[in-house]
Amino acid sequence: MGGEGLDYARLGLKVGLEVHRQLDTAGKLFCSCPTRLRLDEPDLTVLRYLRPTQSEVGEVDRAALFEAQKGKAIVYEAYEDTTCLVELDEEPPHELNREALEIALQVALLLGSRPVDEVHIMRKIVIDGSTPFGFQRTCVVALGGQIDVAGKAIPIQHVGLEEDAARKVGEGPDVVRYRLDRLGIPLIEVATAPVITSPEEAKRVALAIGRIMRATGKVKRGIGSVRQDLNISIEGGAITEVKGVQELELIPKVIENEVRRQVELLRIRDELRSRGLRPDDIRPDIVDATKVFESTSCKLIRKALRAGGVVLALKLPKFSGILAWEVMPGHRFGKELSDIASAWSGLGGIFHTDEVPAYGIKEHEVEALRELVGAGPEDAVVFVAGDEERCRRALLAVLERAKQALIGVPRETRMALPDGRTKFMRPRPGAARMYPETDVPPVKISPDYIEALKEKLPEPPEKLAERLMSKYGLNKKLAWQVIDMEVLELFEKGVEKGVPATVVATTLTETMKSLKRDGFDVDRIGEEQLLELFELIGHGKAFKEAIPDILAYLCKHEGASVEEAIRELGLTAMTEGEIKAVIKKVLQDNEALLRERGEKAFGPLMGAVMKLVRGRADPAKVRELLRQAMRAWAPKGA
Ligand SMILES: [Zn+2]
Repeated sequence: MGGEGLDYARLGLKVGLEVHRQLDTAGKLFCSCPTRLRLDEPDLTVLRYLRPTQSEVGEVDRAALFEAQKGKAIVYEAYEDTTCLVELDEEPPHELNREALEIALQVALLLGSRPVDEVHIMRKIVIDGSTPFGFQRTCVVALGGQIDVAGKAIPIQHVGLEEDAARKVGEGPDVVRYRLDRLGIPLIEVATAPVITSPEEAKRVALAIGRIMRATGKVKRGIGSVRQDLNISIEGGAITEVKGVQELELIPKVIENEVRRQVELLRIRDELRSRGLRPDDIRPDIVDATKVFESTSCKLIRKALRAGGVVLALKLPKFSGILAWEVMPGHRFGKELSDIASAWSGLGGIFHTDEVPAYGIKEHEVEALRELVGAGPEDAVVFVAGDEERCRRALLAVLERAKQALIGVPRETRMALPDGRTKFMRPRPGAARMYPETDVPPVKISPDYIEALKEKLPEPPEKLAERLMSKYGLNKKLAWQVIDMEVLELFEKGVEKGVPATVVATTLTETMKSLKRDGFDVDRIGEEQLLELFELIGHGKAFKEAIPDILAYLCKHEGASVEEAIRELGLTAMTEGEIKAVIKKVLQDNEALLRERGEKAFGPLMGAVMKLVRGRADPAKVRELLRQAMRAWAPKGA
């Protein structure tokens, strides 16, 4: 573990990528409600419980069962004016949104993907409560195609459309709250074949797909509008699905961490096998250990017991030391058990003998516990405190997971955390998860319609970059930054205000990035403010040298105008008279230098003047005035 490099080729890394992005359509995918998120209080709430349903083939989906077992109540938050009965499942869905379909087809055609003759809507079981229907509607729009990334052809499996789920706005032990504003927003999905072989390549592929989506000009921007799912596996491991990577920059880190996890899980498997452990050795003998902790000084256990709870314990034979084994940076095998236990039971986590005495638990309690469950020094003991039923569920989940440790890497769906690590989410759903949506008619796609779409396809990203370079004189790096930082529209508006293209592009990309690196919250700067800034620069009322200071001020003073920033920072444009006065003073102070070097003194003098007027005067103007003043001064000094 630690910093040593991973040999991805030798490990047989394979990554498949699914890029999802919200479309900026007028209406939702199956109703005409606006595709807008709300921050204000909801107008109404609806309480529901979800139960797993059997699929057509008669088996209850494992992932669905998992969610239902958590037994939480679900509250949906809705709005009178921006959600309707479709989101609440009180009215059948309307027809597939044609605007969304057209955008998805444009993306498909740009990727060389083959549109289907007829779009069939399917239901994908989702029973975490994020849709009131218990499923998410999804459809395949096109198949095949490829995207070339750094000289390698990455096959596209399909281009699809699906409805976004409701967004979770709160969760307690017994209740989950979802807001329906996001439910039904169209999401385009592009899935690649699992042919990506390095973390960096995955990032490049995601970037390239994102560029194609953005080329349509009809995708949403900002936090939460993009979600990348990764299917990651190594030789001998298993496919882990990591969901919800929002930032491109995080993709390599997530893959690296998952590869490490799989490598370590395989090593743990080998270690357990070499200790002679067999699956049947792990017995479901759950022991009530409440008595051991009757007078414990562990606050967590005391609290649970006071609330009428119990302490239950499970022996994991030959697991001593394994729970302390690091599988990801700062994330031990015990955490794998803990995450899975709390996911199945709603409890906060587990205790285990690889980490106690600690948390107020004393040596003698650990000894008593070991004796109670009959654990020797080579064994580990996992114990949990709380409601008896929940404790039992938690330990059964631990038991199953411990058995899987002998097989290696379990097939599971994990969620990406903001630091690039991942966390258990649910078992991977089985094939029984999809069935046809009978409430929405299929949509025929005629060859004529496709031909017409091909005639007016959006400008591909490479063409756009070339145009930015030739039309505005941007260099290649800046052109791509304008595209990738999604500021094209703002850039073009800024240029219209009469500001040089390179200044506008640099401001929107490099300057913003560097402020962010320095800890400024650049998200607080609005488009209106940036346009005001460009307007003032265009009119000679602000200067490009002052841009970083003005933007920094706007970050610190939310809602301030650019004019206010300029005034408060003392960056108001100097009059010609004021500049001349500064120049005169600098010339007087540097008489000796002037006399000695004549015209050659221009450089140092210009530097001295700019030091005093930077951000308040146009350097070209200053240069001109300084030359004039030097010429006027020279005869006197000669
Ligand atoms: Zn609606």
